[in-house]
Amino acid sequence: MSEPCPGTPLESFRVLLLTTDQMDYLWLSQLLARDSSIRWELSWVNAVSASQEQLHRESYDIIVWDVLFHQDDSLTFLRFLSRQHQQTPVIALSADVSPQFVRSLFQAGAHDCLTRRHLGNEEFLRALSHAVFRQRQVQQRHPAGPGIGAVNRKLFHEQLQQAILRAERKQERVGLLFINIDEFRRINSSLGYRAGDELICQVAARLQGLLRRSDNLIRIGGDEFAIILEKIPHNLSLVRVAQKVQNAFAEPFTLSQQQVSLTVSMGLATYPDNGVSADLLLRSANQAMFEAKFEHGNSYRFYNQKMNAEVNRQLALETDFRQALRSDQLILHYQPKVDVRTNRIVGMEALVRWQHPHLGLLGPGHFIGLAEKTGMVIPMGYWVIQRACADMEELARLGYEDLDCSVNLSFRQFFDKKLSETLQRIIANAQINTRRLEFELTESAMMFDREYTQSCLSQLHSIGIRFALDDFGTGYSSFSHLQRFPISTLKIDKSFIDNVTTNADDAILVRGIISLAHSLHMTVVAEGVETAEQYEFLRSHQCDQVQGYYFSPGVTLEAFVELLKKQQRSIEAESKDQKERF
Ligand code: C2E
Ligand code: MG
Ligand code: MG
Repeated sequence: MSEPCPGTPLESFRVLLLTTDQMDYLWLSQLLARDSSIRWELSWVNAVSASQEQLHRESYDIIVWDVLFHQDDSLTFLRFLSRQHQQTPVIALSADVSPQFVRSLFQAGAHDCLTRRHLGNEEFLRALSHAVFRQRQVQQRHPAGPGIGAVNRKLFHEQLQQAILRAERKQERVGLLFINIDEFRRINSSLGYRAGDELICQVAARLQGLLRRSDNLIRIGGDEFAIILEKIPHNLSLVRVAQKVQNAFAEPFTLSQQQVSLTVSMGLATYPDNGVSADLLLRSANQAMFEAKFEHGNSYRFYNQKMNAEVNRQLALETDFRQALRSDQLILHYQPKVDVRTNRIVGMEALVRWQHPHLGLLGPGHFIGLAEKTGMVIPMGYWVIQRACADMEELARLGYEDLDCSVNLSFRQFFDKKLSETLQRIIANAQINTRRLEFELTESAMMFDREYTQSCLSQLHSIGIRFALDDFGTGYSSFSHLQRFPISTLKIDKSFIDNVTTNADDAILVRGIISLAHSLHMTVVAEGVETAEQYEFLRSHQCDQVQGYYFSPGVTLEAFVELLKKQQRSIEAESKDQKERF
């Protein structure tokens, strides 16, 4: 292999190796490391089940596939692989190189077939380079990939079906965006079909540029495209893509120095709400597209009216929430935490509220999801901690400096790479005792990027801040989190407390969580305690603290101070009573 010119950055390609054989991985990683002209980034997957997930999440320039990887039906697997990842060449490694078998590999979509037995290192590197550079040439000729230029309704149908099957298995949602270019016939008849084709290629390239690698763009008609979006958490994510498409068409296209402006009409539909099969889903999206046509130019419609109304409501709320952040419409409520042994308030949890100018006081259920989706939870989170610190200062000034204050952190706040630094700056500017501050996180925060979360938590822990695991028992509960992260408090989710006195299983579970937490030297807080019976159960099983409407809901700072004063008065009355008795 030739040496690159000094100073020229190395080309880099991502290789996925699909084999069950660890020796293949060792051999290939050593071989690729030897190539001084190209940087090969090798990933290895050793199980069919994991390969799906990996290919969905990451994109690769080449796949090296051991024919024995799928032991039952290797050709079907190869067919699936090459269809799903049309833009990624697959090189097969096979012991059987009989002409008949090799032909069947090519027919099933393999780019090349090599045999380990006669394979020299040089030869293998040459085969890899040939595959990736050849693919690049194809892509340059058809910017959006070979499948996009040509109408391919059959492929579209198959891929939509596959996406629906995957979603059905994992109980996820699939979004379908049906795009029709308005009055494309006019272009064809005025500029000619050649120009029309050229324009379609430009449209395809522009659309492809908007999408994630896992989103699937296919041309399904002369002037129609479809985008299949998998794992969409919400209708709004489909709207975001539709908005990106709208923006993409805001700029004109250039055809032999002539500017051509295009508009599109889009129909949006989701599996399973608007169709449980590929046919039904397509029909819904198609119908929605026709409705969008009535609005003239770059518009989109959902299949059903209710969805349209809901999405419009969400979009309006999003605009309002941006405004709320700027114009001080957020407030904090505090819910007391009561020590079970002394029956006294020992701390509080800060809970954010939005004083909406028209809709009144809204709880986080109305806007946290939206704030997380849009990233606005990051500035909101900083506002919350700033406000909570200021309120802690105020409480200390009133003589309540020994209260512990908990603040919720959303997993999405860990997307911010300056999280720990900014939090430390805010906290340092406040005159508070950091040992009194606690952050509540859910396990999703720890699942997102363990290393980053771990480093944030340990930096904050080093200045005295404590952490609680919120909503314990819901979602993916893993005890390993409890040991790996500096967590000192465990909060049992309200859903277990609800039935703790009526359901034997919940009672066993709650007792188990309390004793587990104590064996790990953690404090246990029960959330959502609403009755005297629940409180009594928790007290008799040594739960440390409780929080719930039985004592108080979240209240304004002023009302919280009133609760503290009331408690103070009753403590004083009690001690006076005791003195008089002795
Ligand atoms: P969480 O942290 O688990 O907070 C406890 C929720 O349970 C609060 O709801 C609280 O009002 C409610 N609750 C407490 N005791 C009872 C009870 O006895 N009965 C019933 N029915 N409910 C009770 P809220 O205020 O609506 O907050 C919901 C969630 O929103 C919180 O759950 C937390 O995950 C999130 N959240 C609240 N404030 C913030 C914030 O400042 N930042 C972030 N990122 N999330 C927040
Ligand atoms: Mg909480
Ligand atoms: Mg909770």
